[in-house]
Amino acid sequence: MAEAALKAAGPEEELTDGFNLIIDALKLNGIKNIYAVPGIPITDFLRMSQAAGLRVLSFRHEQNAGYAASIAGWLTKQPGVCVTVSAPGFLNGLTALAHATTNCFPMIMISGSSEREVVDLQQGDYEEMDQLAVAKTMCKAAYRVLHAQDIGIGIARAIRSAVSGRPGGVYLDLPAKLFGQVMGAEAGKKSLVKVIDAAPAQIPGADAIKRALDVIKGAKKPLIILGKGAAYAQADEAIKDFVEKSGIPFLPMSMAKGLLPDTHPQCAGAARSLVLKDSDVVIMMGARLNWLLSHGKGKNWGDAPKKFVQLDIEPKEMDSNVEIVAPVVGDMGSCVNAMLSAMGNNFPKGNADWMATVAKKRDENVAKMAPKLMNNNVPMDYHGALGVIKQVIKERPDTILVNEGANTLDLARGIIDIYKPRKRIDVGTWGIMGIGMGYSVAAAVETGHKVLAVEGDSAFGFSGMETETIARYKLPVCIVIFNNDGIYRGTDTNAASNDPATTVFVKGARYDKMMEGFGGVGVNATSPDELRQAINAALDSGKPTLINAVIDPAAGSESGRIGNLNPQSALKKK
Ligand code: ADP
Ligand code: MG
Repeated sequence: MAEAALKAAGPEEELTDGFNLIIDALKLNGIKNIYAVPGIPITDFLRMSQAAGLRVLSFRHEQNAGYAASIAGWLTKQPGVCVTVSAPGFLNGLTALAHATTNCFPMIMISGSSEREVVDLQQGDYEEMDQLAVAKTMCKAAYRVLHAQDIGIGIARAIRSAVSGRPGGVYLDLPAKLFGQVMGAEAGKKSLVKVIDAAPAQIPGADAIKRALDVIKGAKKPLIILGKGAAYAQADEAIKDFVEKSGIPFLPMSMAKGLLPDTHPQCAGAARSLVLKDSDVVIMMGARLNWLLSHGKGKNWGDAPKKFVQLDIEPKEMDSNVEIVAPVVGDMGSCVNAMLSAMGNNFPKGNADWMATVAKKRDENVAKMAPKLMNNNVPMDYHGALGVIKQVIKERPDTILVNEGANTLDLARGIIDIYKPRKRIDVGTWGIMGIGMGYSVAAAVETGHKVLAVEGDSAFGFSGMETETIARYKLPVCIVIFNNDGIYRGTDTNAASNDPATTVFVKGARYDKMMEGFGGVGVNATSPDELRQAINAALDSGKPTLINAVIDPAAGSESGRIGNLNPQSALKKK
């Protein structure tokens, strides 16, 4: 087909093809990195992309390439691009695409696919699957391009769909035949589209701003909740001004930590229970009242009546769980700037007594925790190991912290202070396991900062093979595995057979040897002092490093802090 077109065009006309048009369209729109796993029909596409100056990060599994693209989107406000092969590769990447959509991260997954004619008649093509139909239910938008001259429009639609309004995942289906389709170079160039103002400002109405400020003015115990949508917006200065000018305590959701430092005098992070219960007006900024906030009701929120103000780009988010008395719909930068100008200079500065009550509780809780974090126990417990990491991040606040696990996640989230915006990336809205290595790769590639991945041993297992990817690209990533021999704990036993219990792993496993095997640095750390030395050495050198932090197998609780969500049989045999 491609050859026939080549002949038909004649020798004098300059030609282009699907491969080149996709690459040109991506470059024209400022895409710099592609996260991918090569294979039929995209092997040559990735080679050509690399040759054309795009950076291609070649992974071992599509799910990890997809997670990398998803967090690249959140970190940069540009869609992260993941490229996969057809059916199985597509399905492997789909988890990450759905994850991006759920978390409001802009991402485009491009998958090669089999021939439409054969797929639609279900005649059993190589890796046959109606990928577009499958993807549609899992993402914000899904498109297929059949003709080379539509590639420019297809990429433009994908970019705009991913980043405008509430960001999300977009699927782009490219049948194998499209890559080789030939057309005149001149016409091809003209068919490309540079997307103008891909994520237009969405300005809230003046009445909405006034309504919100009136509610805030009437509050006695106001609370601001900052979410990862606020961190995504990169309106850091305006948000800081708003928080400080209002004098209201703020509670950061986990990926909003650092938007203002966790050590800020108004931070209520360590007084979470108190502020949720006792606040009377809650200002949601780029955060949803989903399960992570007990849907805005129930015992965690106390009995006192509450009013909710919500700033969000998505109108449908309003009243999703409880009544929002003052919805402010728009992009965070526009919303906060409008609030600031309407506040003027005489806006009442919060309630000093309430702020003092919150600060007292917070300081008590921090003081209670402090001695635990300084313990030098061997084998290590979570607190001893996390005390070390808390100090490392304090000394190196530009480091990006990646975090997943059960206890490793819950405890690290509370213990490790974050000082700058978008420096903590984690399991997100689903509490998903497996983001670790994909996130680490993208964080290093997109930001140029050093990355510290704090991983439960179980969580690490979902993406552990990408240790090789990190070593191959020589990325400045230090992985610390909290190795307690299992899921939640390493102490479960099975009395019924010789098989190990379902939640335990090989005792005394040496994950550090994996990194050594790929030419990176592996360290087995058995005490907080050894752990500190190893992390500092890794972050100084920037060499790919994996530290096996040996944690007491009896440390840790079932399901971490969300054991209440894990049904247990009352009838089970002991
Ligand atoms: P968290 O898990 O931190 O609470 P969520 O993912 O639940 O955060 O909520 C993020 C919210 O931010 C979503 O409702 C989304 O619509 C919103 N959002 C995303 N980008 C923007 C933006 N640029 N401006 C305003 N809101 C945004
Ligand atoms: Mg474990």
